[in-house]
Amino acid sequence: MHFTDTVYRNPYWPTFPLLQITQGCTHNSCRFCTMYRDVKFRMQPKEWIEEDLKELGEIAPDARTIQLLSANPLCMTYDRLAPILEMINRYLPKMEYIYAATRVTDISNKSVEELRSLRNLGLKEISLGVESGDDWTLDRVDKGYHAADIIEQCGKLTEAGIDFWMTFLCGAAGREHSQEHAVNSARIFSQCRPMTVGTGGLVLFPGTPLLEESERGEFTPLSEREMLLELRTFIENLSCNCNFITHHTVSGKNLTGPDFLGRKGRILSILDDEIRHGDLDMMSAIRKSKRSL
Ligand code: SF4
Repeated sequence: MHFTDTVYRNPYWPTFPLLQITQGCTHNSCRFCTMYRDVKFRMQPKEWIEEDLKELGEIAPDARTIQLLSANPLCMTYDRLAPILEMINRYLPKMEYIYAATRVTDISNKSVEELRSLRNLGLKEISLGVESGDDWTLDRVDKGYHAADIIEQCGKLTEAGIDFWMTFLCGAAGREHSQEHAVNSARIFSQCRPMTVGTGGLVLFPGTPLLEESERGEFTPLSEREMLLELRTFIENLSCNCNFITHHTVSGKNLTGPDFLGRKGRILSILDDEIRHGDLDMMSAIRKSKRSL
């Protein structure tokens, strides 16, 4: 298999099989991310993709799911992507469910009809690293799109019948804009009605512009308690039913599961308990021990 440089895979998805079709990230500018800083973006050579699929066809001929890599493989136009999905179906004829994590902007170069056709080729689920639905915050961390783009592109996915995840990044607005980040994100996410909402907490990794800004006093990171309060505000304002996943922030409590609206009251009460009695030092130590997104 041709795995190159850094690759990201969704930890909630099966670890096998994986197929890399791009290298690096087309954006590579989010101010909290160094994951692909030293990786030049390029399409994986077509021969490599075919060789990998031949190999998978031999070792996993009955595979029904596959995860496409790397940062934003769906940046490809329909005309480049559809033949790859056709090739997947040719080498893995039992394929039912193709998944990829990607950027909101990667949907914009495809029409609803093209997305529907990709779905018919097996692309059933994608994950969008949205991070915020608040324009100030999106600009602050340089995500490269705004709330209106999120609504438009998620609307196309819904119309095409492709399920999607949206992620919320706690702490991305710093102390300066925490309340607006939480409330506006919950509003935009609720409007988009994703299948899954995932939440994580900001870590200021060495080498990121946001860490340098924080050291110069231009960005004020949230304390662990403020992270929990922001997460609470986001959850309180989130009104769509979905699978809800959280990590990074809450210690030892399971907030993850389906039927978010049915469990919302319980999730809020666990968070309230955590805000009052949680081991904030331990949470801070876990956050500081993380090495990458
Ligand atoms: S967070 Fe995602 S989109 Fe942003 S630079 Fe990192 S990999 Fe690229």
